Amino acid sequence: MGFTILEKIPTSDEIRARYPLTRVLAALKKQRDAAIESVLKGTSDRFILVIGPCSADNEDAVCAYTEKLGRIQEQVADRLVLIPRIYTNKPRTTGSGYKGMGHQPDPEKEPDMARGLIALRHMHIRSLSESGLTAADEMLYPENHTYLDDVLSYVTVGARSVENQHHRLTASGVDQPVGMKNPTSGDFRVMLNAIDAAQHGHVFAYQGNAVRTSGNTLAHAILRGAVNKHGQSQANYHYEDLNLLFRMYQEQPRSFPACLIDTNHANSDKQFAEQPRIAMEVLHSRRLSGEIRQLVKGLMIESYLEEGKQTVGDHVFGRSITDPCLGWAATHDLILRIADQV
Ligand code: PEP
Ligand code: MN
Repeated sequence: MGFTILEKIPTSDEIRARYPLTRVLAALKKQRDAAIESVLKGTSDRFILVIGPCSADNEDAVCAYTEKLGRIQEQVADRLVLIPRIYTNKPRTTGSGYKGMGHQPDPEKEPDMARGLIALRHMHIRSLSESGLTAADEMLYPENHTYLDDVLSYVTVGARSVENQHHRLTASGVDQPVGMKNPTSGDFRVMLNAIDAAQHGHVFAYQGNAVRTSGNTLAHAILRGAVNKHGQSQANYHYEDLNLLFRMYQEQPRSFPACLIDTNHANSDKQFAEQPRIAMEVLHSRRLSGEIRQLVKGLMIESYLEEGKQTVGDHVFGRSITDPCLGWAATHDLILRIADQV
């Protein structure tokens, strides 16, 4: 085997015992979970924004960002539920580049998985206690979900993982709503298959045990745009795309239609400044069609303190080192516009 064991990684029980969630924060999470569930089920007409940097690369910058979000959340509480994106594991198209805090707690140093798992839990709990907002993270490595299971309010399965059986089966047992992204090819059926798999219970192997899951009725869709065979981005947030998804949702018995629209990635062709326009178009489509209004429960937006992106080593506080993001001023403005128009 071409494997060298580098070190033993602490279990999630060990790290959770070291950084437990306080009772106050656990109660806050319960309230937030209920609010998010009611939006997804359609019993509340508030609108979800999963919003934050592409990657949570620096605890201080992430906490400075989420603290600002927490303050706006109070202002827009009757209209919006803000869920910070605190993404600690990054899928990489070719496998090279920064793979997130879980892998590299310091983006300029060598990978350190043990320290990474501690660092990401520390960051999530600090952000929650300072902002009052439970966060979203991507479940890139399903076996690691238990390191954050008690802290997160929202989980995504990314475009490169959504066809993977282990992700789908794990999603069927997690306690959070799981947003299944469309695959990079753009095939809606693949995404809907992932939702169906997650909505049912399964028996499989997880962390060395045989387990049975209950099924996750809150598994739903996220449209992130697609890439064609020429490598060109193809948006899927337009009226026709949303109508198509609504119709495809009806073809099978599923818990309820629900989807978020990712305004960056292949929907913006990573032109981060297009995100406000895309958000406004989606809100417009919701106004035109009751079915689309029923389907689209929120947006996912990539945003950080400073706009654009930088390369590792540039050291601009709060600027993305992965996908380019909206800066704070544009984000603040956009959140208020969405609250006004939703
Ligand atoms: C992301 O959300 O930063 C991301 C990598 O998304 P996707 O899986 O849609 O590419
Ligand atoms: Mn991204």
